[in-house]
Amino acid sequence: MNRTIDLRSDTVTLPSAEMRAAMAAADLGDDVYGEDPSVSALEARAAEMLGKEAGLFVPSGTMGNLIAVMTHTRPGDEIICGRLTHTYVAEGAGAARIAGVSVWPVSHEQAQLDPVEVESGFHPTDDPHYPRTSLVIVEQPNRGWVMPLDNLSDIACIARRHGVPVHMDGARIFNAAVALGVPAREIAAHADSLMFCVSKGLAAPVGSVLVGSAAFVAQARRARKVLGGGMRQAGVLAAGGLYALDHMVDRVAEDHALAQRLATGLRELGWWIDREVVQTNVFFTQPPQGLDLAAVVAGLARTGVQVASPYSGRTLRLVTHYGLEPEDMEEALLAFGAITPATRGSAA
Ligand SMILES: *Cc1c(COP(=O)(O)O)cnc(C)c1O
Repeated sequence: MNRTIDLRSDTVTLPSAEMRAAMAAADLGDDVYGEDPSVSALEARAAEMLGKEAGLFVPSGTMGNLIAVMTHTRPGDEIICGRLTHTYVAEGAGAARIAGVSVWPVSHEQAQLDPVEVESGFHPTDDPHYPRTSLVIVEQPNRGWVMPLDNLSDIACIARRHGVPVHMDGARIFNAAVALGVPAREIAAHADSLMFCVSKGLAAPVGSVLVGSAAFVAQARRARKVLGGGMRQAGVLAAGGLYALDHMVDRVAEDHALAQRLATGLRELGWWIDREVVQTNVFFTQPPQGLDLAAVVAGLARTGVQVASPYSGRTLRLVTHYGLEPEDMEEALLAFGAITPATRGSAA
């Protein structure tokens, strides 16, 4: 067997034959003229599932978040978000570079934001020294951690008291919904706008959807055009997303079970896992002392297990997804076992 077991990301997922068939059969039109029925159907379905008035199909999650920042703020404003928020650390500083806003990062532990820090991030509104705080961004989930609903509610209350909207980066919102056992719209209810990706665990090839009020989405549509994100017969892509919302949401529970199995097996091999309970399809791990991570990555690659290059020195991020099966986890654990000499044998 020479198939690669790819644990780098859920972005590597491929569309099923049924999803491809739905894409091939999609009704199309020019979406910049608002004439692509498949795009409109995806936007309406996404809005309905998340309890918002309207949706906007965008090429990527990064663009969706940037559009949200551009729409909720003015240049020279400031946004508050957790230190590990994707928009802050992994979107090329687009919020600063393109939306022209500064970021007030607050501590971010296991996806939670400290309400006291968020509160004190708001500057006095009558003092010209300070930028106007005009947006709070939350991320659900963050690095595989699910933000507890009470923390989310606390943060949303603070923002509301200051008259400031909340944008939720919900790239993997359905993973959070499945992990929490609540409908996604119950999580989304705490936010004014939300972006989620159909291109990750939902296994569509391309795209994300930004949802919010009808007025917000009308403004967001202008920003999308400015960024070059107005796509023409995009229904061929949107049909994959629509198929994903109809057929791929609940099955992410299987990905969570795979991640739990992988984490349990690694722990038995003496690897450190960054959490007691793996809640979604993402977790972080470190090899036992004395194992060089570069050698680990190379050793795994030789046995057909692909992992992303290490995070911050000693930490690997592992991600499970559609296309991986329970037997792949056993095979991956054999590969991890083979490169973990100190405990080899004891884990059999
Ligand atoms: C992947 C991701 C994004 C960006 O999505 P792209 O489609 O890769 O641009 C934003 N936020 C989070 C939390 C993500 O995981």
